Amino acid sequence: MEKTGGSKILLGLFIFFIIIAIYTIIDTIFYPNIILKNSDVVINLNSEYNEPGYKAYYKGKDITDSVSVYENINTRKLGVYKIKYSVSEGSKYKNITRKVYVKDLTKPQIKLTSNKDIYVCPDDEYIPNDYKAYDNIDKDITNKVKVIRKGAFITYLVKDSAFNEAKITKRIHYKDKKGPTIKFNSGKNPSILLNNKYDDKYTVVDNCTKNVKAKVYGKVDTTTPGNYKVKYTAEDEYGNKTVKTKKVNVYQKDQKGTIYLTFDDGPNIGTTDKILDILKEENVKATFFVTNRGPDYLIKREYDEGHTVGLHTATHDYSYVYSSVENYFNDLASVHDRVYRITGYDSRIIRFPGGSDNTISRRYKSGIMTELVKEVLNRGYKYYDWNILSGDAGETKESSVVYQMVTENLSKDRVNIVLMHDIKPYTRDALKNIIEYGKANGYIFDSIDMNSKMLTHRVNN
Ligand code: ZN
Repeated sequence: MEKTGGSKILLGLFIFFIIIAIYTIIDTIFYPNIILKNSDVVINLNSEYNEPGYKAYYKGKDITDSVSVYENINTRKLGVYKIKYSVSEGSKYKNITRKVYVKDLTKPQIKLTSNKDIYVCPDDEYIPNDYKAYDNIDKDITNKVKVIRKGAFITYLVKDSAFNEAKITKRIHYKDKKGPTIKFNSGKNPSILLNNKYDDKYTVVDNCTKNVKAKVYGKVDTTTPGNYKVKYTAEDEYGNKTVKTKKVNVYQKDQKGTIYLTFDDGPNIGTTDKILDILKEENVKATFFVTNRGPDYLIKREYDEGHTVGLHTATHDYSYVYSSVENYFNDLASVHDRVYRITGYDSRIIRFPGGSDNTISRRYKSGIMTELVKEVLNRGYKYYDWNILSGDAGETKESSVVYQMVTENLSKDRVNIVLMHDIKPYTRDALKNIIEYGKANGYIFDSIDMNSKMLTHRVNN
């Protein structure tokens, strides 16, 4: 019984396959046939669909050219699309479809704001919050990131809604690599006026520990002029060491080798501000002989940053200020009041436009300079000419020439008063090099004050 049942099933299958075969043969012989290369296709969103190709035959003849293709794929939209291929020969026809899946195949991206190797203080716990994750479809998926810790490794894993996955692993080193930071209250290389207070305080901060050993070698005697070197060392408990040296210059007012940088005619946006930046960087004080031009805030900066704000005249108009003593003092009062209004500083330090030896004033009033140099002193002012020209009053427009004219005429045997103009870009551009030359050659930079000895030219009118 069983045997007979098994044979029946086999016979049934055999007949079934025979029918299929016959059908296929009939279909191939009597109907057109379309063969697709790669049946279903998956493409990435926003990419282009490239037809993989097809062939059509009828009775052994290639009729590919007669195939019509109907497609309506939007590769910018996720979905399943159908492409219909059809061909007909007389009354016989064939339709066939291909499915195109437009899917999101683009992986999300994990971005770390820290390095792949991360150093953490030995006693600290590392909290990984230094990542962001973005996906082309889901946008910000930072909150989907899984952070997996395994020993010294942290793996960041994220999947977008289409299950594309991104992964980054980084390593934590529990090690302090950095020495403590030493900061001086006085700045890096301060100049201290003789018998003035010197702030020798400093702070030591370590990135990892409070257990730091600091030592100071050397002392500064503010009652004796000279150059002092003080060495600071700091070592954290992990053996990282920092060494810093501070050079302190104790100087006297008007000491030989002093440089008074003086800037006339400002303030001026674009030059005075940059000059102030350089002076700040270099920790150098200077003197500005200002006018009524330029914005108030630059005069405020000059004063607040420790420079001397001197007076040059309000208008700098020779024909007005040198036509009478009265005009000169009216004009001077105007710039004096401006400085006082901005800073609260009652400036009594002046420079005559053109210098006290100018001859241009002869055009407007004979003998006026002779009167003025006396009268300014009577009224409690001090005036300062110069003994070094920078060339920026008209001789040159090259910063290299400004640099050369100043540095070649400096002397260690006197006080050097340098005439410059903070409205000149080439002076601005030469300044840093001039200061560095001065420092490297043992000069002292200072600002003029009422204790500075007047340097005056011989009057010519
Ligand atoms: Zn001037």
